[in-house]
Amino acid sequence: MKLYNSLTRNKEEFITIEDKKVRFYSCGQTVYEDAHIGNARTYSYWDTLVRYLRWRGYDVFWVQNFTDVGHLTDDADSGEDKIIRTAKRKSIQPMVLVETKIRQFFEDMDALNIQRADIYPRATAEIPEMIEFVKDLLVKEYAYEVNGSIYFDVTKFPSYGELSPSSYSEESAGARIAVNPEKRDPRDFALWIRAPPEHLMKWPSPWGLGYPGWHLECSVMSQKYLGTTLDIHGGGIDHLYLHHPNEIAQSEARTGEKFVNYWLHAAFLTVDGERMGKSKGNFILVRELLNEFDPMLIRLFLINSYYRKSVDFNRDALVQTQILLDRIRTTIASIDRATGEKESDLITAITEVEADFIAAMDDDLNTVGALQAIMQFVKKVNAALDNEKSLLEEAKNKIITFIGILGISLQDEAQQGTIPLSALVDMLVGLRDKLRESKQYEFSDQIRAELLELGIQLEDKPDGTIWKLKR
Ligand code: AMP
Ligand code: ZN
Repeated sequence: MKLYNSLTRNKEEFITIEDKKVRFYSCGQTVYEDAHIGNARTYSYWDTLVRYLRWRGYDVFWVQNFTDVGHLTDDADSGEDKIIRTAKRKSIQPMVLVETKIRQFFEDMDALNIQRADIYPRATAEIPEMIEFVKDLLVKEYAYEVNGSIYFDVTKFPSYGELSPSSYSEESAGARIAVNPEKRDPRDFALWIRAPPEHLMKWPSPWGLGYPGWHLECSVMSQKYLGTTLDIHGGGIDHLYLHHPNEIAQSEARTGEKFVNYWLHAAFLTVDGERMGKSKGNFILVRELLNEFDPMLIRLFLINSYYRKSVDFNRDALVQTQILLDRIRTTIASIDRATGEKESDLITAITEVEADFIAAMDDDLNTVGALQAIMQFVKKVNAALDNEKSLLEEAKNKIITFIGILGISLQDEAQQGTIPLSALVDMLVGLRDKLRESKQYEFSDQIRAELLELGIQLEDKPDGTIWKLKR
């Protein structure tokens, strides 16, 4: 498999540290608000990556954190703690907010069939390890103390910014906010932050009462559970410029060893071209969308674009995805009903779909290509429904397996025998064709008009009629 490694800016052959074992860490949710669909898009890819690697025989150990302290409103160590700020606004204790948001996070992810990571460490539960980490960096003189806060000294780490040039240049820092005068270099970042007496979440440390810096948390939580060097570290593209360079600097300064072999960054889900963000107010929560749409439709939409390309969200695009999902469901239902005995010509297609699916996924998790391979196969199966049942069953298993790796669960529905919309529309379109052939235009037009009223638009093309959903 090849993965695009942000560190080398190349697609590279994926080679694990230990044979067939993958140590994977993904940056998780800051739990002050529910997950929006941008967050869910990124997590959908990590889930698909893990499912795929496991299917290919890798033993994957996946850790994803919850940030429940230390993420300030400005990523460069200023502003208020996001959790404390929201908890105050709601007049509840920060940990009540965190607990609620974590439960809701799992509900939302479960609904989208984003499987759970093996462990979800919480920053507040790892404070002793964080203090030890900071102590080591002080001893090694990579960090310095000012009035109870500890900063990482980037000038001591010559390869700082190898992953990406820091977005935090002196000019931009100065333009945004006054540079913290305690920092020797504006790019230095807080490892431990002194807490004023009234601060709500604080812990005793050798430097007085304080709380950890956001970047420190991920280094501590990943290395505690996965070891000094990780195979893969994932996060949204926003982390490429500050969070991840800082994670590398502090981790490698401490251990003297490489922190991560493959850095993966998922592009943004946008709204009108702008990043969807909790702090931007342009977000759509997963739970809001779940009230309107089939969860598997949302999931299919989320992975039906290449993870390194941003995708703009709009309801029309989501609705169009329904056709793909319906086609797959119809085919599964048709296989269940099939009773044919014809000697099968599906064998080649079955071998081909597997090869195409693997080729796409091996090419840096190309979920779009993988879905195309599945859809082509579905088409071939539809043309072979009179084939003998055992091969059709094999075809069905392939569809369920491959679409399942993309996170779409079909098994329950197949068992429940739901009637997919597209089967009915296809039937009506076929009926309309027959009516037109026999020049019964009054009835054929009526079918077209009534379908349109239901939001289904027919278009007559030279090689047949196609239909789409209209909103
Ligand atoms: P946060 O809770 O903001 O720290 O984000 C949790 C995860 O979602 C991180 O990996 C972010 O990089 C990612 N993320 C945040 N916003 C978006 C977005 N609009 N599109 C895709 N991923 C995002
Ligand atoms: Zn992180």
